[in-house]
Amino acid sequence: MTQQTVTDLRRELEKARAALIDAQSHLSAHAQANAALHCATEVFYSPLHAKVTAAIAGIEHALARTEQAAAAPEHSDVNCPWAGLIGDLDRCEHGRHEGDDCGTTCGTRSKGNPHMKPGAVIGYTLRRGLIVMPHREDKYTPAAWYQQEKND
Ligand SMILES: [Zn+2]
Repeated sequence: MTQQTVTDLRRELEKARAALIDAQSHLSAHAQANAALHCATEVFYSPLHAKVTAAIAGIEHALARTEQAAAAPEHSDVNCPWAGLIGDLDRCEHGRHEGDDCGTTCGTRSKGNPHMKPGAVIGYTLRRGLIVMPHREDKYTPAAWYQQEKND
């Protein structure tokens, strides 16, 4: 279910809930007026009042269950925590991306992550392929992390 679908369904549930609360209020007033008319000591609420009350409770339960889904943003490259991690892998120890200005011990330009230089083998795939540190421009391209030749 998409974020937009959840939002639409929740909006419709809110409308139904508001209408049912009005209906419940009307049915309650009707039952209380009937009791007063007949000088009854107890108010008897109708089966319809019970159904409306149960429906409101069901809607409130559904709204509570979908609250987290409505609040959580849909996954995308923009909000993906893994993309943020990948993006940090070329930073030097001073926190600058490789090639960016870094006036500290890197010199004028960041020398990047000394542990993961572009082209460095950083792991292996199930089929014995190489996982390599891609060049800076390719770091968000998953295919760039795999070197096609087999590791023999
Ligand atoms: Zn640096």
